[in-house]
Amino acid sequence: MSSIFNDVVKADEGEVFDIELNENLLEENRRLAEENKELLKKHGVMAIDIMGSIGAGKTSLIEELVKLLKKQYQIAVFKGDLTTTIDAEIIKRHGVKVVAINTGKECHLDANLVKKALQRLNLKELDLLLIENVGNLICPAEFPLGSEKRVVVISVSEGPYMVVKHPFIFMEADIVAINKIDLVAAMDVDLDQLKTDIKKINRKTKIVLTDCRRSVGIDKVVEALMV
Ligand code: MG
Ligand code: ZN
Repeated sequence: MSSIFNDVVKADEGEVFDIELNENLLEENRRLAEENKELLKKHGVMAIDIMGSIGAGKTSLIEELVKLLKKQYQIAVFKGDLTTTIDAEIIKRHGVKVVAINTGKECHLDANLVKKALQRLNLKELDLLLIENVGNLICPAEFPLGSEKRVVVISVSEGPYMVVKHPFIFMEADIVAINKIDLVAAMDVDLDQLKTDIKKINRKTKIVLTDCRRSVGIDKVVEALMV
């Protein structure tokens, strides 16, 4: 996108003070993610990393997936949050095993925390592991957890530019769920433009429309996950 705005301070790579983005740490995270992936594969567990901003509907999507699939599959949920267990308790009401992962100050889950949490599960009995990442559209992209698929949940209430502003997370997405489609008219959002923006960043990602509060589109998410 070209712009006539030219009063911009641009950070050089590695210039922003941020210990997380040390390349060695990212490499170590990738190594642990591979270990997690191997372990899950060995036990036939499909793990899904669900990312998205705060309030986009990650927890609602997980609740809907649990409701739809729990009779058929043994499901566990990891719920990443800084310090709270609010979402973990909400999901637990559906009768599945939930492990809350509290990151303290960190705004993303990493493979090491997931590795620790995996020790709380009986992997032999498990089919599906849903991982709700910390609400954030930026750094979860850089920290694979060892999941088989990565889902990004966005909602039409986040405004028209959230995709173009956060390209890296969409590059990582196997599936993008555009949630709260019941609000499209009220929010004056151009759904086609949103889809075009996503496809421009990641041609291969599957886009699914959902209204999780009314259980709309959940079967389509499952379909996309199972391919
Ligand atoms: Mg949540
Ligand atoms: Zn972070």
